[in-house]
Amino acid sequence: MKCDCCLKRKKLFESFAAVKTENGKLNLCVDCNDLAYKLRDDAKEGNKDKFNKHLEELEKRCKKAKPIFEDWKKSFLADLYKCFPSEESTADNEKCQP
Ligand SMILES: [Zn+2]
Repeated sequence: MKCDCCLKRKKLFESFAAVKTENGKLNLCVDCNDLAYKLRDDAKEGNKDKFNKHLEELEKRCKKAKPIFEDWKKSFLADLYKCFPSEESTADNEKCQP
């Protein structure tokens, strides 16, 4: 099994995270899964600086990611971006449920 994000091969005794997506199951290695959790936490905290830093790390890892990861990432990030309401609309903040 390989990580759908960084394509790292699963080692014996290593546990990959399985993420359910619209297109099937996504397999993430510990490191990529960790980053996803960090991004979610940053969004919850409304910490855009940290969020951008972790996003940069994720983008570096997923350069060769499979299409299923790209699709998942798109909707995952779209949800998280709702946590950073633009200055004009504060109503977006209510939709933040990462
Ligand atoms: Zn990975």
